[in-house]
Amino acid sequence: MTRPVPAIVILGNGSLATAQQIQRRYPGALIHGLAGRVDGADRTYPEFGATLRTLYQQDTPIIALCAAGIIIRTLAPLLLEKGAEPPVLAVAEDGSAVVPLLGGLGGVNGLAREIAEALGIHAAITTSGELRFGTCLLNPPSGYALGDLELGKRFVSDLLAGEPVRIEGDAPWLAQAQLPQDGHARLAIHIGSDVREPAAHELLIYPKNVVVAVSAEVADLATAIGQALQRANIAVQSLACLLASAQQMASPALHEAAHALGVPLRFAPGAGEVGEWARAALGSSVSVQVDNGLAIAQAQQPVDLQRIGRPRGRLAVIGLGPGAAELMVPAVKAELVRANDVLGYETYVRMAGPFRADQVLHNTDNREEMQRARHAFELAATGRSVVVVSSGDPGVFAMAAAVLEALHESSDPAWHSVDLEILPGVSASLATAAQAGAPLGHDFCVLSLSDNLKPWTIIEKRLDLASQADLALAFYNPISRSRPWQLGQALAIVRRHRMPETPVVLGRDVGRPGQTLRVTTLGQLTPEQVDMRTMVLIGSSTTCVFPRADGRSWVYTPRWYGTKPAT
Ligand code: SAH
Repeated sequence: MTRPVPAIVILGNGSLATAQQIQRRYPGALIHGLAGRVDGADRTYPEFGATLRTLYQQDTPIIALCAAGIIIRTLAPLLLEKGAEPPVLAVAEDGSAVVPLLGGLGGVNGLAREIAEALGIHAAITTSGELRFGTCLLNPPSGYALGDLELGKRFVSDLLAGEPVRIEGDAPWLAQAQLPQDGHARLAIHIGSDVREPAAHELLIYPKNVVVAVSAEVADLATAIGQALQRANIAVQSLACLLASAQQMASPALHEAAHALGVPLRFAPGAGEVGEWARAALGSSVSVQVDNGLAIAQAQQPVDLQRIGRPRGRLAVIGLGPGAAELMVPAVKAELVRANDVLGYETYVRMAGPFRADQVLHNTDNREEMQRARHAFELAATGRSVVVVSSGDPGVFAMAAAVLEALHESSDPAWHSVDLEILPGVSASLATAAQAGAPLGHDFCVLSLSDNLKPWTIIEKRLDLASQADLALAFYNPISRSRPWQLGQALAIVRRHRMPETPVVLGRDVGRPGQTLRVTTLGQLTPEQVDMRTMVLIGSSTTCVFPRADGRSWVYTPRWYGTKPAT
């Protein structure tokens, strides 16, 4: 199992050098710097508390270069909630101290030791068991699972009280631990996959050395797997993954069972017999039992998931929002962390970064949309996690429709088996409207003025009818070098139905550096005021403007129409 990449959070330039030293130990970890205070961070954040809490809730290990007290106070409201507890460490900004604060079971002491080594200092480890025995017994290495945490805590406190211990089974990582071992001890650490009632004097640790291969449609799969393991006298904690054929990749029953059992799913290439895949994946020392369409394969050692079949590929079409990081939805941020490959128009790919060294960026020209969509499926069909980037919302004049069109045209089952998801974003019309007030507060019509993919006559017809229907209008792609006259023509059509005083909002580079917002009227609007980075919002007959305290204007369209209802 790969450990999640930590986030290094700093508040000022004084800690940048230490942060970079830590970053060299964790390539791929990003330095998050407070906006306006830090130059040279990989990412800037506007507010310390919200940023730290978001990282914590996303289960990201946090290395914060500031006083331990600040971190404790910031995260305190989250500590009573059940859920994620990633490692959290405080590091002195001059690199002279590292203090593991939270996430004892997430390996915080290990991280502290690594950071201490990178900085040439000692880690402030305070966990008694870890100090005494040199390892955290309750946090076995990947490939092993602890039986029960509460029983484990009691066990460790008995050990700390001075009792000796026996080790039953194979626990290579305990060889270096300084445990008071005695073959006749009452306390025992038992490592094995047998079904076993936990006893008070035992610490049960299960090697994840079992793969269940599913070949047939099995009713209530998770329960059936649990029962088959029980019959085979194998503890469910030893289950490392489920394995199935690539043809079953999209089967909801399979995904539900894996989710219920809390294990990943892997797929064997091509046809063949499940027992055989399991044998091939696990090697010769494996024992296989077949039970009602399920093959249970057990290896001597924990299994290496990387070597078992491959995961289902994933393709996410994401919307970045208009540009500002605060306007990107959390699901999109999480998807970017998960991505192996990122495809998109270069400007948007850059906007979605920074990326880790292991993430592959495929920058393409803005016009090659179908080609990009097909390329995304080719990559995802090999089991990779692929992201296609759009600005704003991916479903608004952007990549989501192109990706679905590519899939619709394809008869390749591997493409149709990809785990495809569209993740929304804040579209430019909505981001612009929010800046101006609520110009789209009532019924409105969204149009792209680009006639690259549709005839100009249909655009004219829609403009005419939407204007006649008194809908507020949002124009995307209003003008470009290759389409110089269309906007003027469009405005002429709107003016047939709307007064010159009708409010107009022009948002340019909204949510990006150098953004501008301009409130004008239909009578004063000229195509020269607009370029391809501008969103044009035209009010309806009810849209109003009034001054703001700061000298600018608010624009809104009331929710009612005709006569204002009594309130
Ligand atoms: N999927 C995008 C729209 C892509 S079409 C979205 O949902 O926002 C491209 C057009 O969107 C541009 O020509 C411009 O009219 C508008 N646009 C995109 N981003 C913008 C921004 N940050 N500010 C203003 N307009 C923007």
